Amino acid sequence: MFTSSVYKNSPIIIQNQMVSLRDLIRKLFRQTKEQRELQALIESHEYDSNSINAFHEKKLKNVLNNAVKNIPYYRKTIRTNEPKLDDFPVISKFEVVSNHGEFISELNNGVVISGATSGTTGSPLIVKQNLKSVIQERAFVARNHKWAGFKPGDKRAWIRGDMVVPLEQKKGPFWRYSKFENMILLSSFHMSQNNLQGYIDAMVRFDTDIIQAYPSSILTLAKYLEVNDAYYPNQLKSIITSSESLNLKDKRLIEKRFKCTVFDWYGLFERVAAIASCEYGHYHILTDYSHVELLDVGDGRHEIIGTNFNNDLQPFIRYRTGDHVYLSDETSCPCGRAFPIVDRIDGRIGDYLIGEDGQKVHILNHIPKGVEGLIATQFIQDQLDCIEIQAVVEPKVFNTHQEHILIENTKERLGKSIEVFVTIVEKIQKTKSGKTRQAICRIKDTL
Ligand SMILES: [Zn+2]
Repeated sequence: MFTSSVYKNSPIIIQNQMVSLRDLIRKLFRQTKEQRELQALIESHEYDSNSINAFHEKKLKNVLNNAVKNIPYYRKTIRTNEPKLDDFPVISKFEVVSNHGEFISELNNGVVISGATSGTTGSPLIVKQNLKSVIQERAFVARNHKWAGFKPGDKRAWIRGDMVVPLEQKKGPFWRYSKFENMILLSSFHMSQNNLQGYIDAMVRFDTDIIQAYPSSILTLAKYLEVNDAYYPNQLKSIITSSESLNLKDKRLIEKRFKCTVFDWYGLFERVAAIASCEYGHYHILTDYSHVELLDVGDGRHEIIGTNFNNDLQPFIRYRTGDHVYLSDETSCPCGRAFPIVDRIDGRIGDYLIGEDGQKVHILNHIPKGVEGLIATQFIQDQLDCIEIQAVVEPKVFNTHQEHILIENTKERLGKSIEVFVTIVEKIQKTKSGKTRQAICRIKDTL
C-alpha cells in the first residue's frame, strides 16, 4: 500500500486515514474471541511447567498427526499412524523450496494468507498461513506485550520498516498516525542525522508509553542520544524489539539512553521458534509456541531447529533456521516463568547501506521480494551515489524485466538519485566465519 502512487500522492491527512483503515482491518481480523481465549490460556500457564509441558505434548502430537495425514511430503515417506518426532527428517529451506507444493496441507479451505520470509540473502521463501495461524500468532505477541507492561489504551510509537513516508519527502513530519492502534508509525528510511531529534520530539509530544522498533532503528536513536550526551526526556514503560538480532552491548545502550527495559523477541516467519527476553533480561524459549531442538554445532553454539505449532496449512517440522543460541547455566529466572533460558541469540548480522541523504538503511530484506529468479543477492556500496547488487540467478527466469524490478525496489528504499546496477555472479562471497553478508558498505561510519 505504502509504495502505491495513490498513497504517495495523497496529502498527509489522507495518508493518516489510509494507515488507520489498514490497521483497523488487521485488528478486526486478528483480535477475535479465539485470540482472547488462547491468550488467556497461555497466560494462565506460564508459571506452571506441568501445564506448559502438557500443552506442548498435545500440540506436538497434533502437528505430527496432521503431517502424516494431510501433508503430501510426509504422507509419502512416513508410514505410521502414530508418528514420533524422530520419524521426521531434519529439513532446511532448500527442501521446502524444492518441493514447495508438497508441504501444503490438502485440507485447504478458507482464507489463505501468503507471506515471504525475510530471505536475508536472496530468494525469500513463500509461507502460506490460514486465518487461524494469524490469530494464534497474535495471541503470543499480545502476551509478549503484556510482559512489556502494555495495557489497552497505551500509546505506542512504531519504527519497524514500514514505508509510511515516501522517500521523496525530504521534510518532516517523518511519521504517520494510526488512530485505531493509538500509535504513531515513524519511518525507518529517513533517519539521517539531521532528522533524528525530530523523531525523539515526535515520540515525546505524542506522550508515548511503549516503543516498538527494529533494533537497528532504535539503536540509531540511542547512539544519537549518546553522542549528544542526552537521555530520552520522558518516562517510557518499555521498548519492544524484534526481527533483527540485538547484541547485549547495544541492548544496554538503548536501555541506558531510553531509561527503560528492552523486551527483545526472536521469531521468524516460518514460526518455528520464539525466544523472548523478560524484565530480568533473560531469554526464554517459549515452549508453548513451538518445539525447539538445539543442535550442537561446536564453538559453544547450538542451531535452532524448530517445529511450528500454529500453522496446520503449512507445518514446518524439524526445520533448520540457520540461527544459533548460546546455552545458559541458569535454570530458573527471578521472573518465575517456567520457560527454559538461553544465554543469547546469534542471529542475523546487522548490515546496512547509506541512502541518498546520508541515512543508514538497515531494512533490506524486502528489496528482493517480488523479483523472480533470484537465488542470492548481496549489496555492495563503495561510494554514496552508487550501489552494486551482486546476484546469483536462475537465467531462465531472471530477465531484464526482473532486473528492472530489483533496481527499482532498491531505489525505492535508498533514493532515486542513486545509481544501481546488477552484476550476475556464480556465488556470493562469505565471511571468514562462514556467514553471508546481506550488504557490504565501505563508506566510513559517521555515527
Ligand atoms: Zn525471566
